[in-house]
Amino acid sequence: MLTQSLNTYNLRNYQTELIQKILDSWQSNLRVMLQLPTGGGKTVLFAHLARKFAEKGMGVLVLAHREELLLQAQEKLEAIAGVPTGIIKAGYPVHPYDLQVASVQSLVRRKNKPDVGLIIVDEAHHASSKTYTTILESYPKAYVLGCTATPYRIDGQGFKWLFDSLICGPSTRELIHQGHLSSYKLFQAAKIVDTSKTKTTAGDFNSAALAKTIDSQVEPIDVVKEWQKRANGLRTVVFAVDIAHSRQYAEAFREACIAAEHLDGATGKDDRQDILQRFAIGEIQVLCNCGIISEGFDLPAIECVQVVRPTKSLSMWLQIVGRGLRPAPGKKHAIIIDHTQNWFLLGLPDEDRNWTLEPVSLDNEAKRFLYIACTDCDHAFKPLPHEVKALKGKCPNCLTVHSFEISEGFAGLTKRLDANKEEKEIDQTVDSRLQALIDYLYSSSLRNEYKPIWVYYRFSEICKDILPEISLGTWQYLGAKLGYKREWAWVKHQEATNPKTLNEEEIELVEMIKQPVLQRDTQPAKDTLGVLTEVCNKGVADRKKNWAALSEQEQKTLNEEEIELVEMIRQPILQRDRQLAKDIRGILTEVCNKGVADRKKIWAALSEQEQKTFTELLKD
Ligand SMILES: [Zn+2]
Repeated sequence: MLTQSLNTYNLRNYQTELIQKILDSWQSNLRVMLQLPTGGGKTVLFAHLARKFAEKGMGVLVLAHREELLLQAQEKLEAIAGVPTGIIKAGYPVHPYDLQVASVQSLVRRKNKPDVGLIIVDEAHHASSKTYTTILESYPKAYVLGCTATPYRIDGQGFKWLFDSLICGPSTRELIHQGHLSSYKLFQAAKIVDTSKTKTTAGDFNSAALAKTIDSQVEPIDVVKEWQKRANGLRTVVFAVDIAHSRQYAEAFREACIAAEHLDGATGKDDRQDILQRFAIGEIQVLCNCGIISEGFDLPAIECVQVVRPTKSLSMWLQIVGRGLRPAPGKKHAIIIDHTQNWFLLGLPDEDRNWTLEPVSLDNEAKRFLYIACTDCDHAFKPLPHEVKALKGKCPNCLTVHSFEISEGFAGLTKRLDANKEEKEIDQTVDSRLQALIDYLYSSSLRNEYKPIWVYYRFSEICKDILPEISLGTWQYLGAKLGYKREWAWVKHQEATNPKTLNEEEIELVEMIKQPVLQRDTQPAKDTLGVLTEVCNKGVADRKKNWAALSEQEQKTLNEEEIELVEMIRQPILQRDRQLAKDIRGILTEVCNKGVADRKKIWAALSEQEQKTFTELLKD
């Protein structure tokens, strides 16, 4: 059994060389990143490494973030290492094997982590996220191998603090020359999607804006026609911008009597299996999707990849085209039909690239929202989700930690997170003149048997022009004098330094409330309360009326922050990434509580399917 599997998974020359390079590098560096193009056989390579460790009786842990990748890794580890391999993931039974593949989200929460000498991180370009670093930190002595086709992140995070060295395998071009990958012909479609005016959020095109761009420039029938012209009869995968477009394309192909199906992350396991099976035997000719097939999906030889998905992510682009480059008997070359400018903007699939562990600073467009410009080293980056939650971002270049704020009215409504926002020193001194005033007001209140609140209102009225300048110490003095809790002073200090703007009616109402308070007159107080209730009730009623009067479209209008949040929610939905979903829920709560965004509007902007998937991701 073992010999047979080894024959199937013989190492190629470059793989043997890479294993040696990794072993050499481990002599001086514990954490090594391996770059190998899609189709370079990284799973086979790391399975052989795992076997070496297993033979010495050392445990091996493979980390992955998606179920397909876990199952694929388990299968190859068992076949190549020749020993049973366990899966650490909710819903799978626990086995005490030396070899384990683990879902990062499950492992990070397990108290009893397996004892291992080697950790392999699959798709290691995700490894900056908190869950990965938490796991790696709990194994300070283990060897670490990160594997990825694209050691590159669009958030400016880089990898230089996570990995000590980078080993690059042969390039895509070399793999094509050696016959390990298929050559290709790339055709630019007649109608190219012009994205020069399409908005960018979180590093890639904003998906709502992108959908609109596509709608205005490419009809589903154009996709079909282009396929008939360039790839008629070839087994094809079409990449669309979103589920709706993917479905439209499948429909358009079927209308042209071409067997086509749509597949997405929410397609049930059985249906997915059935569709892939029918695709494998040629019953389905064209498979439309919007990203599910780009990472780690083991598909039969694909002859054509049709791209109607503009992206700014090099990683996504290379994964998409990489799907078509697997060689197969009788396949002369792959056909790539590009309806986008990806090939031009991100480069041809086999173009030479200089990979680095260093973080790459954000470009101007990526700096529109949610980014930190390091004041120590000038590096521009986006904080990781858990950092947004903590309001502290660590510069991936120089490790300086920056505190930032998410607040309304800040740089134009949370347009961006500013690093090192000047922190005002808290002044705890008590102003002597104001102290005298407080003492005077306090003794007056005692003399007249006024309640302490009277002192506060008189004080704030007399000082109304200098309220923002009053020190916290002075507020504390006042609070202590009046017998209030310590927090009272803090709240008043905050209110004074960040005054909320009241509308005219509200200002008048406040004045009306103040009057009886000042005069300690019971009847006007009751009257005022009555007026207040009435006005507010009416106000609320009016607001509801106004709300209903707005067209449904207007109610759904999202502000910039909400658009960005909707985008952020879609990310884990597409990637089916539970941890990311949870992090984003945290951000959502944070931002909505601060009043910057409206949770209901964000939720309504998602499709029913997206809502369902997001809710499911948050379970477990
Ligand atoms: Zn820095």
